[in-house]
Parts: sequence; structure tokens; C-alpha cells
Amino acid sequence: MAVDTVDAVVVGAGVVGLAVARALALAGREVVVVEAATAIGTGASSRNSEVIHAGLYYPSGSLKARLAVRGRDLLYAYCAERGIAHRRCGKLVVATDAAQLGALRALQAQAHANGVADVQWLDGDDARAMEPALHAVAALWSPSTGIVDSHGLMLALQGDAEAHGAMLAFASPVRAGRVRGHGVELDVGGDVATTLRARTVVNAAGMHAPALAAAIDGVDRTRVPRAYRCKGSYFALAGRAPFSRLIYPLHDAAGLGVHLTLDLGGQARFGPDTEWLADDAPLDYAVDPARGGAFAAAIRRYWPGLPEGALAPAYSGVRAKIAGPGEPARDFVIAGPADHGVPGLVHLFGIESPGLTASLAIADEVVARLA
Ligand SMILES: Cc1cc2nc3c(=O)[nH]c(=O)nc-3n(C[C@H](O)[C@H](O)[C@H](O)COP(=O)(O)OP(=O)(O)OC[C@H]3O[C@@H](n4cnc5c(N)ncnc54)[C@H](O)[C@@H]3O)c2cc1C
Repeated sequence: MAVDTVDAVVVGAGVVGLAVARALALAGREVVVVEAATAIGTGASSRNSEVIHAGLYYPSGSLKARLAVRGRDLLYAYCAERGIAHRRCGKLVVATDAAQLGALRALQAQAHANGVADVQWLDGDDARAMEPALHAVAALWSPSTGIVDSHGLMLALQGDAEAHGAMLAFASPVRAGRVRGHGVELDVGGDVATTLRARTVVNAAGMHAPALAAAIDGVDRTRVPRAYRCKGSYFALAGRAPFSRLIYPLHDAAGLGVHLTLDLGGQARFGPDTEWLADDAPLDYAVDPARGGAFAAAIRRYWPGLPEGALAPAYSGVRAKIAGPGEPARDFVIAGPADHGVPGLVHLFGIESPGLTASLAIADEVVARLA
């Protein structure tokens, strides 16, 4: 089998892998991105809500809190600089009955603790003045939430990385690897099987990152978290969107609730719901039309005017979870040499939402941990 030596390998060409490849290439490193699929962004990065999160939800001091806030600012600046389609449309998080007011207050306090100072409390009338179709007894207004063309973002990241010498290899699944004195060797499948020998390896394989880490000989498996998969389906709304801002119910441990997001054309979609997949279940992105009833019930709590038959199955994504059903949500895990002792190796585990928002900040964090 051919053995090639490269400076840095990034496994996975989702938004995070591409952002890491760009950051390493900008830092003057020789970078090869190996991607199992035949195109960029076929995983979670193209199967999400495309929301630029403001950073309200995450526990104080967590990586999610810090990297969402920093990533959001970097992302707005990058979109402006590179002409990537986006809109700072803002969002309302709504309490639909008085029993939810305490949780909404707690969310406001968490947002302020995270440095998201622009979040404002609205009573029901103020919220309806902004969005007349809304049912809410109170709401939080987050003006710095927005939406982004995720594919446009990934193309810009790829373009920057390639302009600084990075190469992308598609249809190149990493099957196994081993830690060596000089770095890490990766066995790459595909039409021409190769072994890549690299001083730096970044495991940005999304929901497959734990499996990839466990397939590298010399990695301490006791430090590799268990992977769980949690599917989220979306339904599209036929006809005109009733709102001009994003509308979110209160969140739970698994996700942010069936919210309304808008695409850049102003079309509304609802989702994602939560459906835990068994470990041995095949990955099936089809949306079951039977889930539409539960969607309609969840949506009518904040939009009673949802017409009958207006929802159509759209698409789904799978969250890269490292906490299982009923367990508290976990933080991002960025495991670098200081954590596991292997020089030059970084694993990215549990990069679920707000990973799109945080992608540029995650990339900077990876570069810092390799320094
Ligand atoms: C339903 C849903 C809604 C979301 N909504 C939002 C949102 O609104 N805002 C937000 O900020 N975030 C959101 N997220 C989170 C965000 O989408 C992810 O955090 C982000 O896309 C993760 O990017 P990634 O590059 O780590 O993973 P991925 O995009 O999944 O990329 C991983 C890549 O690795 C490749 N790969 C895997 N194994 C191998 C291997 N062995 N060899 C080679 N290649 C391999 C895969 O083919 C894939 O291309 C959402 C996620 C989901 C699922």
C-alpha cells in the first residue's frame, strides 16, 4: 500500500472540518482533507436549521457558550467579508402559558450570564406587536440571532483553504490508524487505498468521530465518549410564512424544540423534533409523514392559526450526541494532546448545535490546542 507523508490531515469535510482546514492552511500548514463522501457537507452541515445562534442556552463557562458567542461574531464578519448570504432576522423564544414563565426568566438570566446582553423580555402584547400571528404570554427577543446559507459558507471555507494550498480528497474514508512516534498514520480506503502519515491529525468526522477515534491504535479508548444518534425531522410550510422572525418554543435537554425557521427566500420550515436512533439502526434520512400530527400540535401552541394540511415532510438531520436519552446535555469535547497525550492529534466529539454557528471559533480553538 502506498504511504504518503503530509503535514496535517483533517478527517471530514463538514463545516467544522473545512473551517479547521482553512485555519491550518492560513497558518501556513500543508493540509489534506479526507472525506468519505463525494462532496463537501453531506452530513449534519447540510441537514440543520441554518441558524446563527446568539448563544443564549449553554451553561456559563462551557465551550458551547464561549464558542457560540465568539463564533457568531466571527461568522457575521466572515459572511459580510465573503458575500455569503445571511440575514440577522432575530428570534423570539416564547412562553405559551404562565407555567413557562420561570423557565423563560431562567433562559434570560443564562443569556445575560453568557454575555448576550441584547436579549430583551417582552410581554405578550409587545411580542404580538412584532408578530401578530403569535400566541405568547411572554417572549425573549434575541436581535443577534440570524440565518445563513450553510452551503455558501462551506464553499467559502473550502475556497479559502484551497487558495492557501489545502487539498481535498473525496471518496476517501479513513478506516483505521495508529499512533506512531512521529505522529499518526491513517489507512484511507476508496479506489486507491493509501496510508497517510501526518504530524497533525484532526478528527472532524461528526457523528462518526468517536468510532474513528476508537479505530486508531494507541488512542486511549476509555477517553472516547459513547456516540448516540438523535434524528431531527423538518416539515415545510406551504404558502406564505406567517412570521418574519424565527420563533422558538422553550427548549428541552435533547434539542431546542420544534421551532420555525426561515430560509433566505423567506419560506418557513418547522423542526427539528427528536427521535433517538438505536445503535444498529440504518441511517435513514427519510421523513416519516406520520410525524406531522405531533408537529402540528407543537406548532399550534405558539401559532394557533396553522391551517390544516399545510405541512409537508421536508428533510432530516442527525445530531452527533455524546449524551443519551434522559441524560443531561454534554458540552463540546475538543480533545487535544494535553487531554490524551498523543502529540498532534485532536478529536472533536459531540459537535452538535451550535456547531455551525461556532465553526470558525472551534477552528481557532483547535489551532490553539495544537500550538
Ligand atoms: C437537526 C440539526 C439541526 C441543527 N441546527 C443547527 C443550527 O441551526 N445552528 C447551528 O449552529 N448548528 C446546528 N446544528 C449543528 C450543526 O449542524 C453541526 O454542529 C455541524 O454541522 C457539525 O459539522 P461537522 O463538520 O462536525 O460534522 P458533519 O457535517 O457531519 O461532517 C462530518 C463529515 O465527516 C465525514 N466522515 C465521517 N467519518 C469519516 C471517515 N471515517 N473518513 C472520512 N470522512 C468521514 C462525513 O462524511 C461528513 O462529511 C444542527 C444539527 C442538526 C443535526
